[in-house]
Amino acid sequence: MTRTAPQGAHLIGGDWSTDAPGGTAVSQNPARPDEPVGEYPLGDSGTASDAVGAAVEAQASWRILGFGGRARIMERAAVLFDERADELALMCTMEEGKTLAESRGEAVLAAETFRYQAGLAKTSTERIFPTNNPGETIRTVRAPLGVVGIVTPWNFPILIPVWKIAPALAFGNAVIWKPASNTPLTSVAIARLLGDAGVPAGVLNLILGPGSMGGAVVADERVDGVSFTGSVGVGRQIRDVVTARNGRVQLELGGHNPCIVFGDADLDMAVAAAVGGAMGSTGQKCTATRRIIAVGDIHDELVDRLVAGVQNLVVGDGQAAGVGIGPLVSPGARAEVSEAVAQARSEGAETVAVNGTTPDGPCFYPPTLFVGGTDLTITREEVFGPVSTVMRVDTEDEAFALANDTEFGLSASVFTNDMWKIDRAVHELQAGLIKVNGPTTGSEIHAPFGGEKNSSGHAAREQGDTAQEFFTRTRTAYVKPGRPR
Ligand code: NAD
Repeated sequence: MTRTAPQGAHLIGGDWSTDAPGGTAVSQNPARPDEPVGEYPLGDSGTASDAVGAAVEAQASWRILGFGGRARIMERAAVLFDERADELALMCTMEEGKTLAESRGEAVLAAETFRYQAGLAKTSTERIFPTNNPGETIRTVRAPLGVVGIVTPWNFPILIPVWKIAPALAFGNAVIWKPASNTPLTSVAIARLLGDAGVPAGVLNLILGPGSMGGAVVADERVDGVSFTGSVGVGRQIRDVVTARNGRVQLELGGHNPCIVFGDADLDMAVAAAVGGAMGSTGQKCTATRRIIAVGDIHDELVDRLVAGVQNLVVGDGQAAGVGIGPLVSPGARAEVSEAVAQARSEGAETVAVNGTTPDGPCFYPPTLFVGGTDLTITREEVFGPVSTVMRVDTEDEAFALANDTEFGLSASVFTNDMWKIDRAVHELQAGLIKVNGPTTGSEIHAPFGGEKNSSGHAAREQGDTAQEFFTRTRTAYVKPGRPR
């Protein structure tokens, strides 16, 4: 089959531009190295600056359009995400590698997010307070933050940008979006869709190219806030630059998420959740299960069943029927995972499972399960791939202490039917997302999402009605009528 390679382009002020001061790059399909997905231009700091200028120019009229006008456009976008779900899913799978079902799930949730945030923006969040002065009222109103930079990773190339773009637009902001370089054409498809839905010129600007372009947006004084999802190192740099110039910053960074399995757990549930949580999306989720903490005698049976679960996974091209786990995103990502696994073995980790269905190829890596302790680097540092470690403890106190013994605090899960342990988990696990008898992965778009410690710092939560905390400014107005003349 021949397919015309889609051409990538920046979207600036409503115009598509293939200006390539940094040259041209090729978006690769990690499952099919011989079938590049398409070409795209690499911009530079000038491209980023032009996009910021376009956003500044467009923001006032987008704000003046009001909640209702903006919501109508966003509702059309939701319809288009549903209608184009298959097309978006195919592009996402070709660039990122995950299975078509996983990619399609992103597109469908993107539709839901647009619908939800459009509706939410129409629900008043203003508050009224009494005052001590006769005839006066105090009101809080929400103004848009203004011009926002949105910098996103490749692992959820549809949904993570939409988590940010939808509330940004709903509350009257103009956006400069810098997506990750592994998934540029998925971003182009989303920007096209939003243009087709009626988002006016300059309100959403897309720039393609290296991380330094994100850096240029972040440093630009005209950008009121930056919402970033990605690695801890880059997140910290962004935080320092934005806060130094009094901008607002939102960060969603890495994780090292524990799953505690107590002796009374429903093991069918726990095994399915731990295997899916660790290996789903090829372990390339910030919420992936990195440590499985077995409490007491359940350890051996749990390991046996986890081994079977890992062996039963079918690894292959995400476009092929029956495949549950796709490739890693790039040969570089594979090299990083492979090095981390070799280091774990050299540090004494016991390999208990290596999936046998994994095809050859520069990006495929077999889901791997270790048994080991806290002395292993892999049980402390995030390895972004299908690798997890079972750790044994003897007591409940040790389980909670080990779960929290990490610099991260994104998600955590616990398997038990004991109400005391459940209550303790909900109150004592240091994670922004806590699941009881569920996987560390997965969240719903109408509930707050975010982490603690190095996973998010003190940033405002994303999603749900908390998303507006980042994308709006609260103003307090004291209003009293003058006396008639
Ligand atoms: P990354 O930090 O390398 O890149 C993220 C984005 O930042 C990309 O668009 C990149 O081009 C841009 N960037 C790079 N350098 C920059 C700079 N100096 N200034 C501004 N922008 C810059 O991350 P990645 O490899 O794309 O994604 C994987 C990481 O993301 C993992 O650590 C994962 O845990 C994390 N992640 C976190 C969440 C969450 O919600 N907490 C979700 C998904 C992924």
